[in-house]
Amino acid sequence: MSLHARASSLRGAKPSPKKSSALQEKLKRLGLTRREDLLLHLPLRYEDETRVTPIAIAIQSAVDAEGDHVAVQVQGVVIDSQIQFRPRRQLVVRLADASAALTLRFLNFYPNQQAALAVGNQARCVGEIRQGYFGAEMVHPRFRVVLPDTPLPETLTPIYPSTAGLAQSALARLIDDALIGDPLAEPLDAAFLGQARLPVFWDALKRLHHPPAGADARALAERQHPDWRRIKLDELLAQQISLRQAYRARREIGAPRLAASGDLAAALVRRLPFALTAAQVRVDAEIRADLNAPYPMQRLLQGDVGAGKTLVAALAVCQAVESGWQAAFMAPTEILAEQHYLKLIDWLKPLGVEIAWLTGSLAGRTRKRQLAAARTAGLVVGTHALIQESVDYERLGLVVIDEQHRFGVQQRLALRQKGQAPHQLMMSATPIPRTLAMICCADLDVSVLDELPPGRAPIRTRLVRDGRREEVMAYVRGKVRTGQQVYWVCPLIEESESLQLKTALETHAWLADALPELNIGLVHGRLKGAEKQAVMAAFVAGEIDLLVATTVIEVGVDVPNASLMVIEHAERFGLSQLHQLRGRVGRGAWESSCVLLYAEPLSPAARARLKIIFEHADGFEIARQDLRLRGPGEFIGSRQSGLPLLKYADLETDLDLVETARVLAETLIDQSAEKAAQIRDRWLGGKEALLKT
Ligand code: ADP
Ligand code: MG
Repeated sequence: MSLHARASSLRGAKPSPKKSSALQEKLKRLGLTRREDLLLHLPLRYEDETRVTPIAIAIQSAVDAEGDHVAVQVQGVVIDSQIQFRPRRQLVVRLADASAALTLRFLNFYPNQQAALAVGNQARCVGEIRQGYFGAEMVHPRFRVVLPDTPLPETLTPIYPSTAGLAQSALARLIDDALIGDPLAEPLDAAFLGQARLPVFWDALKRLHHPPAGADARALAERQHPDWRRIKLDELLAQQISLRQAYRARREIGAPRLAASGDLAAALVRRLPFALTAAQVRVDAEIRADLNAPYPMQRLLQGDVGAGKTLVAALAVCQAVESGWQAAFMAPTEILAEQHYLKLIDWLKPLGVEIAWLTGSLAGRTRKRQLAAARTAGLVVGTHALIQESVDYERLGLVVIDEQHRFGVQQRLALRQKGQAPHQLMMSATPIPRTLAMICCADLDVSVLDELPPGRAPIRTRLVRDGRREEVMAYVRGKVRTGQQVYWVCPLIEESESLQLKTALETHAWLADALPELNIGLVHGRLKGAEKQAVMAAFVAGEIDLLVATTVIEVGVDVPNASLMVIEHAERFGLSQLHQLRGRVGRGAWESSCVLLYAEPLSPAARARLKIIFEHADGFEIARQDLRLRGPGEFIGSRQSGLPLLKYADLETDLDLVETARVLAETLIDQSAEKAAQIRDRWLGGKEALLKT
């Protein structure tokens, strides 16, 4: 259907209420509910209808240098118009200008379109020219009937992202109506804009909806034009302002000051067989300062695998307990929670700290008893059962969340609602590159443990083709003979948990068969909590030589005597998973290695991942490379599900704008709450609840 026909039917009688609610529904689907939404709904691309090309030239230049058909605009007189039935019913029109003639073909058409294209009428058509059944032709061009002197538009025609049943023309008209009203404010001052060579917001916005004739449509589509940069800066500012305001708002909430002198933590340090690393000392001081404040800490502790985050958390726990408050320590899996439990008992029990244990697998009388203990214990360790409603802490002052990326926003929110407003320490071993951290952690304080404890020998990583597994078996045998222990990680099968289980059982049976002289254990997600713990305990005690495991051991497990990690089908794992898994070895005195078995053929993406994990040992560098490979959307997707995605700004190409936005956001909030709100609300009005978690 033609642009013209649609536009005129829209312009016609007042729409019935039913029709307009259908329209509202479609607009809602596009997220367009307010005037600002329409104004900020920017074109995907443009068509140039500011020029008319003579038909002869249009036919000659129907394809561009890359062989793609290009849209052109032609204008001429209708010299023939008839309905033909061969090869099927269709309207076939001949359009001629001084240079040549062209066929227009409509397989679906309305009587009013046929009437509009009557012989003798002058028409302007936009479309691609192809060689078809009737020679050079345009199929279903957009057209409009004009007079010979009807002026050409002076701006490029925007093409908007739309949805089924919502015509471009209808959307464009709504946006144009919105553009007629009052300009949106310019909260940034002229001096800054001049210096940054950026246009005024409203001017940029108007020009992006209707670029002047002669504007370079391609350059606009690449979105690096100053007009685009002004818009993207605004979008990033809105996000930064919102996150920073959430951060500041937290300071209005009261939290207990955990201001004890630090004797308990000092006693723990004295009992350790090693000294703290300089990074641990620094981060401990940062946390201590937060805990001493009358508002809740929200600190993310990033540190590579094995950097010693647990100890830093234990020092914070000491501070809470010594100040007369409770601490909760939450881990994403039962295995990991149990490890922490044992370690914390080892560290804190001798200091007189009362420690309770709580997981979802407890039931009946045991559970009742544990719930009662959790009410008053100095420290409660467990899984997400810690945040279940039935747990009733008397004085919860600190919450530690290990492997924070494994928990969703909802779970963190639930925790926040326990106690009045406990201090929160979140720990993550999958580092977020600095640029991304500025975006998704702008409402948090971040500490970085950038130093591993001394004496860790680097882990040797080997890539081994699946066909050479016999050699790997011999290697395993040799390791065990000298008293070392080995992990053997089963292939990840994302699609099916039962298939994954089957593979684990098969791998176990096969290894038991091939290495009969070894004690081989098996741990997977379907085992009951107690069974899992028994296997892990046997591995920790050295009774198991070779532990076959699914990815349940991905995070946090700490067995210093294990020095070899074999990962099957390494090509199926993500980079951070491989890095986490590899970090399970290299924790003790043995020289450690990691064997990545892979099956050929490798996809280019899998090859790139294996190359990175082979070449790099530093988790921060691996995260940077991972970001480069997957792009920011996917990279943060799993981690920060509450993050509103950016519509226009691109974290790769617009890095400088991210930095600018971060600095400007602080200044704006300080100097003019009103201006900050203008920017924030036009982009996020009403959509920011999740940001506040
Ligand atoms: P992660 O940061 O991966 O959670 P862990 O807290 O599990 O690391 O620590 C890894 C191992 O290093 C543990 O066995 C821990 O006791 C030990 N460790 C922690 N700090 C030090 C240190 N300063 N010197 C030596 N070993 C340490
Ligand atoms: Mg850990």
